[in-house]
Formats: sequence, C-alpha cells, structure tokens
Amino acid sequence: MAPRILINGAKGRMGQAIAAAAPELGLTVGAAVDVGDDLGRALDSADVIVDFSSHHATRAVLELAAARRKAVVIGTTGHSAAARAELLALAAKVPCVWAGNFSVGVNLLFALTRRAAAVLGSDYDAEVVEMHHRFKKDAPSGTAARLLEIILEERKLTAAALRHGRQGITGERTPFEVGIHALRGGDVVGDHTVIFAALGERLELSHKASDRGIFARGALRAAQWVATQPPGVYDMQDVLGLK
Ligand code: NAD
Repeated sequence: MAPRILINGAKGRMGQAIAAAAPELGLTVGAAVDVGDDLGRALDSADVIVDFSSHHATRAVLELAAARRKAVVIGTTGHSAAARAELLALAAKVPCVWAGNFSVGVNLLFALTRRAAAVLGSDYDAEVVEMHHRFKKDAPSGTAARLLEIILEERKLTAAALRHGRQGITGERTPFEVGIHALRGGDVVGDHTVIFAALGERLELSHKASDRGIFARGALRAAQWVATQPPGVYDMQDVLGLK
C-alpha cells in the first residue's frame, strides 16, 4: 500500500507543489502542517513526514519521527555544517532521505561534477555559480553546498578553501581555492553552473530548473522509497540507484 505523507511547510511554495504532484504519483496526503499546527497530532494520519519548512524545524521533526518510528524526507536547506552533522546522528535513527536537491538532473550533475573534478585536476580552477528567486532565505543553496563538497572531496581540500564571492585586492587566484557565487533575483527556480577553467579552455556544467514540480516529484519518489527502508540516512543517489 502506498504510504500516506505528512507535508510540513504545507503553505509554502514547495509544500503546495508537493500536494499538487501527490495524486500523479498515486500518493495520499494524510496531513498538511504549517507554522503553529500540531505536528504530533497530524502524524496520526501519516506514515512519512516530508519536510520542506525551515531549518529551524528539522530537530523537532526528527525527534518526533524517532519517537513515533516514522520515516522522513528532509528537503529543507540552510543548516550550518555543524548543525547538519549533529542532526544526522538523530536522522540515522529512522529511515531518512536527506537531500539538498531532489531533481534527477541535478543528481546527475553531482555525478558529472565528481568525474570532471577527478579528470581535470587542480590545474582547472573550479568555481560554482548559483541563482535563485528573490525570496530564498539562505545562501549558498543546498545544491551549491553539495557541489562544493564534491569538488573539495575530489581535490582533498577542506572548507577553508571556499571563497564566498570576492571583493577588493584578493591577489591572484591559487589552485587551492574554490569560488562560490550566489545570485538572487526575480522568480528563478534554481540555476547551478560548475565551471572548470584552465589556460586555453573552460568546461561548464549547467543545470536550470524551471518548475518546482521536479523537486516535488523527486521528494515524493523518495517518500515512497524510504517507507520500506531500514533506519539510516540516505540521499537521492540512493533513491535513484545512482550509487
Ligand atoms: P517557503 O518560504 O515558500 O515555504 C516554507 C513554509 O514553511 C512556509 O509556509 C512557512 O510558514 C513554513 N514553516 C516555516 N517554519 C515552520 C515550522 N517550524 N513548522 C512548520 N512550518 C514552517 O519556502 P520554499 O521555497 O517552499 O522552500 C522551503 C525549504 O525547502 C527551503 O529550505 C528551501 O531551500 C528548500 N528547498 C529544497 C529543495 C530540494 O530539492 N531539496 C527544493 C526547493 C526548496
């Protein structure tokens, strides 16, 4: 039987997109919750929590899921690295898919970025550019953060290598830095470009989202998948079988 889902952040852009996409995937929205609603009570009529609310809500969502033995999909972004590390231990107590981006195309971009970073090596300067709508509250995006993580892993660098924008007399670029630039404006759903630039050539890998439906369908696919998994933290690469 298809799991019943609880949407946390139901009145938001993603919450509404998820509710709209659910019937298409044959899923029932058992409960829809937003600020001020009683999440615990709403959970009586759902099997999987799909959270697209705020990073402030993640701890409460995970604690409740653990207490009630429910599966979770976390789509919310904006956690600091330290907060995320702490929350992952809590998330591991339940079946949990946690992904900064639920689109199939972006998950392929992750794989292509890893391959390009490995093949091209540090002679190719890596920079990430992202653009989102003017209402987005965090920067850089969760997707950009994941792209950066992949590049740092492949180049054996730490977060100290990151350069968030550049200003003033920065000096010449070194091979030991990775730039990240967050653009904000209008109604852009989500653009990400990874640039590898050397002397004489440049490779750019770009993904452009034009409809939130791609994230909603991916999150619902994750909800369907995670409902039958043992406790543990998974990502969209697991759901899509890309590992
Ligand atoms: P939004 O501001 O339109 O909606 C958020 C909703 O959550 C609002 O209705 C708000 O009232 C509600 N909310 C806030 N705090 C809450 C709480 N403590 N409990 C319950 N509800 C709460 O934002 P959005 O564009 O829908 O994005 C929501 C989140 O999802 C953001 O973190 C965004 O970055 C992320 N996001 C992730 C993906 C992905 O693929 N992982 C895609 C798009 C957006």
